[in-house]
Amino acid sequence: MLRSDVVVIGAGPCGLFQVFELGLQGLSVTVIDALGESGGQCINLYPDKPIYDIPAIPEISAADLTGQLMQQIEPFNAEFLFHQRVIGIQGEAGDFKVICASGLSIACSAVIIAGGAGAFRPVKLKIEGLEQLEGRSVFYKVQDKEIHRDKHLVIVGGGDSALDWSLALRGVAASVTLIHRSDRFRAHPVTIKAMQESCAQQEMLFFQGRIIDYVAEQTTLKSVRVKGRDQVVRTAQLDHLLVFFGLTPDSTGYESWGLELYQKQIKVRTDSFATNRKGIYAVGDINYYPGKRKLILSGFHEAALAAFAIKEQLEPTRKATLQYTTTSPLMHQRLGKHPDLPDMANQYPATQPQ
Ligand SMILES: Cc1cc2nc3c(=O)[nH]c(=O)nc-3n(C[C@H](O)[C@H](O)[C@H](O)COP(=O)(O)OP(=O)(O)OC[C@H]3O[C@@H](n4cnc5c(N)ncnc54)[C@H](O)[C@@H]3O)c2cc1C
Repeated sequence: MLRSDVVVIGAGPCGLFQVFELGLQGLSVTVIDALGESGGQCINLYPDKPIYDIPAIPEISAADLTGQLMQQIEPFNAEFLFHQRVIGIQGEAGDFKVICASGLSIACSAVIIAGGAGAFRPVKLKIEGLEQLEGRSVFYKVQDKEIHRDKHLVIVGGGDSALDWSLALRGVAASVTLIHRSDRFRAHPVTIKAMQESCAQQEMLFFQGRIIDYVAEQTTLKSVRVKGRDQVVRTAQLDHLLVFFGLTPDSTGYESWGLELYQKQIKVRTDSFATNRKGIYAVGDINYYPGKRKLILSGFHEAALAAFAIKEQLEPTRKATLQYTTTSPLMHQRLGKHPDLPDMANQYPATQPQ
């Protein structure tokens, strides 16, 4: 079984900065996210939008913020487990098992929930019976491009994912047809232009309309019926249907995890961001305390204090002293700035916690 000092549930901006703060404390971390990449709301809801209220960064896109957080935590070699949805936490402080829907479990001494707006799941194309074809002929994400090699693809959606995958799969698939209900797209202008040029060069086809029905033989999709802007219904033969309608947060049943809630948010104390369950902490948008504001910078502060609290939980005879990253040789060593220095962790005297 996988084991680390701490499991962080959620790879949004606050979960990522939590890895940094735990790394400074010398703790090993496994990060689990239901999605296929880190960044949480930033990457999934507004990647290209600028953020103006990250301290000392006058303007940064949400995607770049995620990229910089990933770069900042590189020295700590955290383990990332994507496409894993956590459904519960068994055990007690010092000996937890974090359980995923896939059956995977990770052992750890403390848990930080940075679940934000919840585990995102794809918005489905609502046509009766289509769910039975998921994973065979109908897909809501591309995990392996090779599955679509030499297939006739219909891709639905008008955002970055639909357009990016249409372009990326041109050379792999036998054909790519993009269907969107409007000729206005929610994608990056560069991507829209690339798609339009690709259509002009007959590398792919764009059709304005919406899918109203399908024909399948057992688990194999044969065709979809598409109602165009002119109200005419046409049939498109296909092998695979790829749907990119964006993501929606899926609420996690934290009550069943034994956690005290306030309006679906996890109640925490503000000196440590500990929940009512010993050894389990919550930071970022998911937590609640009087005065809580759901801002990235709030989560960054919470992550720092939670890391100190966990360090003291794991080493109760030693006070987790504050050390500046500018001047502390120990911090430099953990950040990989002076890897040749001898191990410094024990040069700091043990003190009784206050
Ligand atoms: C359009 C928009 C603009 C915004 N602009 C700003 C801004 O300018 N400044 C600002 O400070 N804030 C802004 N915010 C808010 C900001 O994005 C959030 O405060 C921030 O994303 C919270 O980060 P987080 O890490 O707590 O959670 P999230 O970003 O929500 O990430 C949580 C992650 O946890 C995962 N997860 C949840 N439950 C589970 C589970 N059970 N198992 C596995 N994984 C799970 C999710 O998949 C997700 O990836 C904006 C939000 C939106 C929607």
